[in-house]
Amino acid sequence: MGKFEYAPAPESRDIVSLRESYGLFIGGEFTPGVDGRAFKTISPATEEVLAEVTEAGPADVDRAVSAARQAYEHTWSRLPGAERAKYLFRIARIVQERARELAVLESLDNGKPIRESRDVDIPLVAAHFFYHAGWADKLEYAGYGPVPRPLGVAGQVIPWNFPLLMLAWKIAPALACGNTVVLKPAETTPLTALAFAEICQQADLPPGVVNIVTGAGETGRALVTHPGIDKVAFTGSTEVGKEIARACAPSRKKLTLELGGKAANIVFEDAPVDQAVEGIVNGIFFNQGHVCCAGSRLLVQESVYAEVLAALRRRLETLRLGDPLDKNTDVGAINSAAQLAKIRELSDVGEAEGAQRWSPPCELPVKGFWFPPTVFTGVSQAHRIAREEIFGPVLSVLTFRTPAEAVEKANNTPYGLSAGVWTEKGSLILWMASRLRAGVVWANTFNKFDPASPFGGYKESGYGREGGRHGLEAYLDV
Ligand code: NDP
Repeated sequence: MGKFEYAPAPESRDIVSLRESYGLFIGGEFTPGVDGRAFKTISPATEEVLAEVTEAGPADVDRAVSAARQAYEHTWSRLPGAERAKYLFRIARIVQERARELAVLESLDNGKPIRESRDVDIPLVAAHFFYHAGWADKLEYAGYGPVPRPLGVAGQVIPWNFPLLMLAWKIAPALACGNTVVLKPAETTPLTALAFAEICQQADLPPGVVNIVTGAGETGRALVTHPGIDKVAFTGSTEVGKEIARACAPSRKKLTLELGGKAANIVFEDAPVDQAVEGIVNGIFFNQGHVCCAGSRLLVQESVYAEVLAALRRRLETLRLGDPLDKNTDVGAINSAAQLAKIRELSDVGEAEGAQRWSPPCELPVKGFWFPPTVFTGVSQAHRIAREEIFGPVLSVLTFRTPAEAVEKANNTPYGLSAGVWTEKGSLILWMASRLRAGVVWANTFNKFDPASPFGGYKESGYGREGGRHGLEAYLDV
């Protein structure tokens, strides 16, 4: 069975009005950078320049931290929780009202399919603000003492894979707990963070409570090392996470790190195969595999290996790759030329080390950054594609015979962010979950997120939790 033919169904971009250039959002206003430097952000699907964005230098970061400090001392930390909640509810509602615009903007700047930005990213952004608005006046019941106090000014650095969602994960709990923030979005995806700055204005959020400084790694470094920051929250690569941990170690800054992963998605012989195949596809091809908790290592019980692989290949032949704004698209563009080069390099290494590479027949657009859904079989645990985070639509398949062997192999990684278990036996799910060294274990599903559920890692996947009651701890003086 091949693909159905669908007529193109592109979402209109008219709902987005892009400015030619964007300043920094400091003290409630868009302002130019001190040294006048700027960079361009492009659509990874077409390489079209979308806008010019200011590159914040140390003096700009300093201004943003001062604005956040002022707002913390004089306004935000003095407001009762119920008042802070009103602003968060207002932001959540504006996100819902502007959902379509934000989804189109996210797909333009990031390359992810509109189906995902519209149905996953943006609804979760609103959910995070609603959820944390609910906590703002109930913090004394969160289990952190009768009068939980905020930390002060948070410096937050986020990656490009879920730009607005990562912003929500960082800003919503910080504000709910009474902190103010300076956030740096990733260089390749600054536009929804800047749209969020407009939303803060629209919500009449007091100036300085949220500040957005755009720029590259240097801007991030200036932010996390700034002495006026009380807390650092980072999501990104393990390498940069380690650098930040070293930079923060001699200070009193509180730190949370959400880093890489190499999750095992484990399919037992009694799992419903079609359902498991959907979970495997969602686990690694959702968001082009640019997901820290992606199920990038598939562990299949040997007895059903042939059946699962055949069903997976059939399913992959139906995936549509192409225009992120087309509502039929399943696999969008790779976020940047640099990320594409990394995916290509590691995939070539996989072949050179002896694994067998397979992709469904699929035509790649000529312009932009694209990589086909790819499956490697014959992978051993020593292969680099089984050990390193590829952060792309590339699945490494391994096999196992017994549950104990599955646990051994799943845990044989420096990471520990997530895992998936597919079986019809509840007892086996619990047995596995108690042995898997992963912050999140999904059972008969994958990549399910909920603001009420804590998320975070073991080992080199980082420390601290985001979301749920546990996530509040990162923003309170406990
Ligand atoms: P980075 O870790 O470099 O980027 C994450 C964020 O940190 C970005 O905003 C980045 O800015 C900023 N940053 C970079 N260097 C510093 C620094 N020294 N101090 C403070 N902030 C800094 O990830 P990359 O985008 O370079 O991706 C590299 C690899 O990391 C990927 O191939 C993937 O394997 C992994 N990754 C993992 C993620 C996860 O969620 N686990 C998310 C993103 C990447 P800028 O964007 O300007 O570089």
